[in-house]
Amino acid sequence: MKYAGEMALIDPHTHTLESDGTDTPTELMQNAAKAGLDVVGLTDHDVTHGWDEATAAVSETGVSLLRGMEMSCAWNGITVHLLSYLHDPRNEALLAAARKTIDSRENRARIMVERLSVDYPITWEDVLNFAPEDGAVGRPHIADALIAAGAFENRNQAFEWALHPRGPYYYHHWAQDPIVAVQQVRAAGGVPIIAHPRARMRQKLLPIRVLMDMIDAGLAGIEANHPDHAARDVKFLREISAERGLLVTGSSDYHGTGKPNWLGQNTTPAEVIQEIEHQGTLEIVRP
Ligand code: AMP
Ligand code: ZN
Ligand code: FE
Ligand code: FE
Repeated sequence: MKYAGEMALIDPHTHTLESDGTDTPTELMQNAAKAGLDVVGLTDHDVTHGWDEATAAVSETGVSLLRGMEMSCAWNGITVHLLSYLHDPRNEALLAAARKTIDSRENRARIMVERLSVDYPITWEDVLNFAPEDGAVGRPHIADALIAAGAFENRNQAFEWALHPRGPYYYHHWAQDPIVAVQQVRAAGGVPIIAHPRARMRQKLLPIRVLMDMIDAGLAGIEANHPDHAARDVKFLREISAERGLLVTGSSDYHGTGKPNWLGQNTTPAEVIQEIEHQGTLEIVRP
């Protein structure tokens, strides 16, 4: 197995233009090769639309592909991101939850644009220029429209105030309950791993007791090494994982030029990826 071995470089959480990244799936695979990765995980928000194109680029790039999705969830108004790996992409319950999220995201984005347009020169059509055709429209696409309008220089700046959850323009969207989501991912043959559970600058943190409920519901692992986690968060999450016998992953959460995160910024050991493949319904696509 190409990716097995001590020196394998594996980055299991990235985004493309199919959600809010800036690479096409082919470009992601090419950039992963340039970054020296052996395996890359493609985990767009709420869609698996990039899987086929990325799969087609495996041979030419020599990079193995871990197929995944980052499922939007919410608990009591707090956003939770659940990575689902190697699930059946035709599973009806997961597709229904994703459809409901995508529809609610559109409604939410329209409301936020309505609010923002009072103070900034943007329209819904401007945002559509940056959003994926049939996918999860998110705040990053609103940020892109604000940047195009000259209001901000980059996404990060737009997020500091105009798009911040505690700012005046924010509006929520529906998302699946994270405990139900863990059960649904398992039922779809997927491997559920909670993404960046301590990314505190974004919003209020998910209470630990809810994380414990997710573990009881079948959570397979915790993404401990993430660019938004401080060293103490990583330590804390590794302790919980050890206590509860969970997998520990690390990733860049690469978004192309949409975020400063670079491919391979954090990585996951080959043994962990092998266990994910063992638990999942699909296989890793190898050259
Ligand atoms: P949404 O799901 O629409 O609420 O938007 C959240 C997404 O915005 C996350 O998936 C992040 O990738 C992205 N995001 C959050 N904070 C920032 C930031 N400061 N700069 C760029 N992207 C961000
Ligand atoms: Zn994102
Ligand atoms: Fe996320
Ligand atoms: Fe992500």
